[in-house]
Amino acid sequence: MNQFFRTQQPECDPYGRKASTPGAKLDDGKTRMGLVVGGFARALKAVGEAGKDVKGRQYKFSKSAILARVRQGPVKLLELAQGSRNPEVRKRLMRHVHALEQAGTIKKVWIQGFPHYVKSLHETTDDDRVRMLRENCRPIDGCMAWASQVDPQRGPIGRVDGPPLNVRRFIWRVTRGELGRDQIIRMRQECEHGCIEYAHMRIGKRNETRWGEKLLPPHRQAMATAVRARLGKLDWDKVREIRASGEPRQALAERYGVSRSLIGMVLRHEVWVEAGGMFTGLLRAAAA
Ligand SMILES: [Zn+2]
Repeated sequence: MNQFFRTQQPECDPYGRKASTPGAKLDDGKTRMGLVVGGFARALKAVGEAGKDVKGRQYKFSKSAILARVRQGPVKLLELAQGSRNPEVRKRLMRHVHALEQAGTIKKVWIQGFPHYVKSLHETTDDDRVRMLRENCRPIDGCMAWASQVDPQRGPIGRVDGPPLNVRRFIWRVTRGELGRDQIIRMRQECEHGCIEYAHMRIGKRNETRWGEKLLPPHRQAMATAVRARLGKLDWDKVREIRASGEPRQALAERYGVSRSLIGMVLRHEVWVEAGGMFTGLLRAAAA
């Protein structure tokens, strides 16, 4: 071992003391391996620090960069943290985030159970809200399927930063304008359940069926029901008896338990019209 450290020169004390002098050390000019080994640990540490620095440079945060991203729309903390879950990185980010929050520039809202940062209310526009609503959807074959409550009558219901709203009506209002009271939004027949895609919307009237047919107004519906009920008391045999008999209408009405006016309609062939008979029209004309 000693041989290994031996230098060309004869061994001597670095301070010129004689080898026999107490305290003299004959290590002048020798390679000090202890320092190398000890120093290596420090060097390793320094390299490590340098590595940390490189990482640190990747996660550089600034208020202006955060604000610029938030202005584009709601953003999750993870995205602001550039994907880092490192507590130290997060801590540095949150310093800026908290400062912006305190300044009232941005604020935290919960969308789908995740905290998002958005521009503060006075800065939040309806377009932002539409974007937030769309973020709460699953895209399926071009449809945007609402991921929260879908009311059977009103459709998707959601809230952004105010009271619950009818998502489809809100999107229509922001995109196209106010809807009338009796106007409702219909989705394409093939749409996903809870779809809120604007391009799939069309306006319908409240009083039409799902496929756009006009509903009978209530009184017409009632009349039709009543006529069916009255006709129900007769059958073809009775009708033919009525038509064959020459009795007064009042008597016939009483016998068959129907109104006099219905007897009149039967006699005029306005109801219980014999199908296909070539004389039907003539009979009608004659009876009139
Ligand atoms: Zn759709």
